[in-house]
Amino acid sequence: MRTIPQRIIAVALLLGALAPNAHAAEQKLRVVASFSVLADLVRNVGGDRIELTTLVGPDGDAHVYSPTPQDAKTIAASSLVVINGLGFEGWLPRLVESTGSRATVVEATKGITPRHGEGANADKIDPHAWQSVANVKIYVSNIRDAFVNADAAGSSIYNANASAYLQQLDALDREIRSGVAVIPAARRQVVTTHDAFGYFADAYGISFVAPQGISTDTEPTAKDIAAIILLVRAAHVPAVFLEKLGDGRLIGRIAAETGAKIGGTLFSDSLTGPGGAAPTYIQMMNHNIRELTRVLVD
Ligand code: ZN
Repeated sequence: MRTIPQRIIAVALLLGALAPNAHAAEQKLRVVASFSVLADLVRNVGGDRIELTTLVGPDGDAHVYSPTPQDAKTIAASSLVVINGLGFEGWLPRLVESTGSRATVVEATKGITPRHGEGANADKIDPHAWQSVANVKIYVSNIRDAFVNADAAGSSIYNANASAYLQQLDALDREIRSGVAVIPAARRQVVTTHDAFGYFADAYGISFVAPQGISTDTEPTAKDIAAIILLVRAAHVPAVFLEKLGDGRLIGRIAAETGAKIGGTLFSDSLTGPGGAAPTYIQMMNHNIRELTRVLVD
């Protein structure tokens, strides 16, 4: 009869050892972020206090994402779904609705001043608001407020995380401005194929010209390249950044026929994986301003 109490004690000890972990996991706020850039902001505010799932991960295209059955399960089990809004994730409202989830949808762009797209997109709201650091500070405040509302017990953590990150964003904003300052004013313009840098242009004074009718989903054709050459010549644009580089000889033609420099990658809609050039929002923006400065400074 001596073995039974011992076993009970052993079970009790085991439960005692498991209980704190189980409790901690239960307390974590379950948060879904729609895409990688937003996920990085969410992680900076939530830290260890949240359990974060990202729907469109690094190198993914959130404009055209097709949700999976697993995404629906993740949303159904979450308390908060953080989205960019401004029509960026057109596929998301239906997904949230289809899960019957009672999760709060947090629109990170709430309170920013939206701008319209350029050229063919002039009648549409431009969703790429995170390309301005001042806007991202609003994103971070919105995310912080949503976390405090959903999990008041963690409010001091969320507030402290957010204010530390907001300070880093202020430093980033200063770095971008001093990067632009070294570029001669007449050279602060580039051609890109993706109309994604309008907020950056408005905030920092570099103009991005996107030739009309060129798809960002495919490599540029000979006809696209001819249109880019005309544009570069007409506006005396010193540099061209293409999202999909495609045929090297076509790109070489732009340089040969216009004298414009060909820049490397500018990241707009997604972060890279940990080994890439832009694994965080701050690193993405730092990479872009370094690349612009490298190519545009004589
Ligand atoms: Zn985009």
